[in-house]
Amino acid sequence: MRIISSVREMQSLVNGEIRTGKRISLVPTMGALHEGHINLISEGRNRGDVLIVSIFVNPTQFGPNEDFTNYPRDLEGDLRKIENLGVDIIFAPTQEEIYPVEFQTYVEVKELQEHLCGHFRPGHFRGVATVVLKLFNIVKPHVALFGEKDYQQLKVIQRMVRDLNLEVEVVGYPIVRDKDGLALSSRNVYLSPNDKNSASQVSKSLREIKRKFDMGCRNTKLMVEFGKKILEEAGVNDIDYLEICDSETLGSKELASRGDLLAVAVRIKGTKLIDNIRL
Ligand code: AMP
Repeated sequence: MRIISSVREMQSLVNGEIRTGKRISLVPTMGALHEGHINLISEGRNRGDVLIVSIFVNPTQFGPNEDFTNYPRDLEGDLRKIENLGVDIIFAPTQEEIYPVEFQTYVEVKELQEHLCGHFRPGHFRGVATVVLKLFNIVKPHVALFGEKDYQQLKVIQRMVRDLNLEVEVVGYPIVRDKDGLALSSRNVYLSPNDKNSASQVSKSLREIKRKFDMGCRNTKLMVEFGKKILEEAGVNDIDYLEICDSETLGSKELASRGDLLAVAVRIKGTKLIDNIRL
């Protein structure tokens, strides 16, 4: 497993691999790896000849009052966690390598970035799209793997790939959860055992709403109110959104249909958690 921090070195290495006909797969991450990442990395091994994992905490996707400085970073621990997964290259650039001082070019996916988390994190998806496009240009993957936990991110990237005619296949993988149903996240380390109890109610509220849908309810307002009540009873009062929306456009809906996305974002003692489920 080689660790590369230079963009030029990464590009020349991957150019050599591509010249010999190798298929490149990329798993982009911000590190502090957990089983959700591990699952993507194992899948990535099956999808290409050269498996590259990027680890980069991307400053441009954090708002001024968000946790960029405190975001968990543990490169050594990450390397240990993935040493037996057949990763060929870890691309772990510095901030200056990705954003040199004169940097001034950004990508925006105009409509998809406005919904759901977009209301609460202005500029977030612009930062995501920009760094992912840069990673695609540096690593030149044939296939890139993303988690459905960040469903809006996945849709933004798929749209960008289509709109800009990028030659990369973007594949989404299901959410990995702990035994209580909590979606794994690098940010879960901020949660105390008590907070984790409340956090596990987030996925429970989604499952309960889906149960209502399966029983025939279609009124999204009623379903959302019902879900919010479950959250509030569990002490989760800081809800950014709980929404039922079209799974492609991410526009919110009045009447739910099968396949719609039910998405939620909450803060538990300031820690932002997101989750989703398909109806
Ligand atoms: P992050 O390091 O949080 O930026 O995540 C890197 C990749 O892992 C993204 O594609 C995420 O969607 C994915 N990911 C994070 N948590 C999970 C999870 N619990 N299940 C599946 N994929 C995940």
